[in-house]
Amino acid sequence: MSDTPVALVTGGSRGIGRAVAVELARRGYSVAIGFRDQEPRAAEVAREVEALGQKALLLRADVTHSAQVAQLFEEAERQLGPVDVLVCGAGITRDTLLGASTPEDLDIVRAVNLDGVVHCCREAAKRMIGRRRGSIVALSSVAGQRPGRGQSLYAATKGAVESFVRALAVELAPRNVRVNAVAPGVIETDMAKDILALAPDEVKKRILLRRPGRPEEVAKVVAFLCSSDASYVTGQVWNVDGGFKLE
Ligand code: NAD
Repeated sequence: MSDTPVALVTGGSRGIGRAVAVELARRGYSVAIGFRDQEPRAAEVAREVEALGQKALLLRADVTHSAQVAQLFEEAERQLGPVDVLVCGAGITRDTLLGASTPEDLDIVRAVNLDGVVHCCREAAKRMIGRRRGSIVALSSVAGQRPGRGQSLYAATKGAVESFVRALAVELAPRNVRVNAVAPGVIETDMAKDILALAPDEVKKRILLRRPGRPEEVAKVVAFLCSSDASYVTGQVWNVDGGFKLE
């Protein structure tokens, strides 16, 4: 195995996960790209990583299944070496007023946004504590702190992720493993395209910088938190939101 650090990124086929995979490759990581179903898009990300001179490994896994997540880590470590960095980018929304939502909406939002993060962090923690090094970043959302109408299920899962990150940071700090969250505002990805198409001016009015963010702007902060430049940062939630709702 080489000395090249290894990152595992879930939700790596598009959006913020994709930008994180590419940014980490730019910073010298081999990258395991976890994807659920969009193999062609994940393959494009792999090509971008390789074009930067780094190894890319495509691994299919549904983060809601703990056995698939365990397999994801096993395969990443078998082919690339010990995972130094985990970024939990997989996430979904089911925005609707609570009265119109179904128990299935809750099940799936919770399964991906909360259970998925927990399953991935469990596998990372088991491996990182023995090596006494590692960094984990979970994607939360400003909705966890300042939810909009119709976001109760999503906000509940993101609030839970932020609590989980703080609790896990407490647990893993003695083993030199850092755990943080990044909470993006409105970012130009498939996830936010409906809201940006429906009410672009309304969205911009709520953002101090008067524009949505780009996935690359989130990725740079995630990559910083992963890096040794952030060696004294743990248990934190960093907002990357252009000053969302500060006015
Ligand atoms: P996106 O919809 O573009 O990408 C989400 C990714 O998660 C996709 O690749 C999808 O395949 C993957 N995914 C969904 N369910 C999965 C599962 N069960 N197993 C494995 N992968 C699964 O969204 P994005 O904007 O890139 O969001 C990335 C993260 O950032 C999410 O956690 C999201 O909640 C958060 N976020 C996004 C925004 C935004 O405005 N885009 C704002 C705040 C927070």
